[in-house]
Amino acid sequence: MFPDLPDRPFYVFDIDGTLTRYVDADPAAFLHGNFLFPIVRDLMVERGMDPDEAAAAILRETVENVYWDYCDFVSAFGLPAAEAWRRFRAWHARHVAPYEDAVALARELKRAGRRLFVVSNNPVTGCLLKLQAAGLADDTGSDVFSRILGTNELRGCKGAPGVWRRALDRLGVDPALVCTVGDNPVEDAELPRRCGAGASFLFSRDRTDRGIDRPAAPPAAAMTAPPAAAMTSRLRRQ
Ligand SMILES: [Mg+2]
Repeated sequence: MFPDLPDRPFYVFDIDGTLTRYVDADPAAFLHGNFLFPIVRDLMVERGMDPDEAAAAILRETVENVYWDYCDFVSAFGLPAAEAWRRFRAWHARHVAPYEDAVALARELKRAGRRLFVVSNNPVTGCLLKLQAAGLADDTGSDVFSRILGTNELRGCKGAPGVWRRALDRLGVDPALVCTVGDNPVEDAELPRRCGAGASFLFSRDRTDRGIDRPAAPPAAAMTAPPAAAMTSRLRRQ
């Protein structure tokens, strides 16, 4: 399928800009730079909270719970989980589309007996929602990806110090046998290779096609930022 793809027993996939892209997602409608926070706020307002107070409470939760996942807001504010998930899924069905080439590659590798993992700058719930929009997962897991590592488990984004090391260590395999698959030459190739990953494969995506997704290479400051700062910047980027 891709003649340049290194043949390895293990593949670690990126999500944003690799498996999925945003469609008609308007950053002006986001809250604190995040696309699902308006849904959380609306659920809070429907339960009687002032909209500004709800927005402030969400921001406070991101500060107090730096490595948050979306479900943490549901729990923190006593929101109905099933309804929150329904709205999260509906947003993704409308605004997240698959890159069919990468989705087909993942399926082909899985069929060929390779083990596939995800390392993403989304929290795990965000990963599941995006993979679900691409037909690669349901609410609880994936038949294609054996392990889904998100920011809440890795304690940071891929550009933050130590995150790739923690990711590769969690997989419990020889990193030399791992090929990373992504769209960002730094986060999906240079950094994991520095931690011992044996190979990498990059899809070339057009910036305009990626929509609100992050730039191809993070600014130098993001590479050295402490985890908390990196996570705060993630609020703006995703
Ligand atoms: Mg990406």
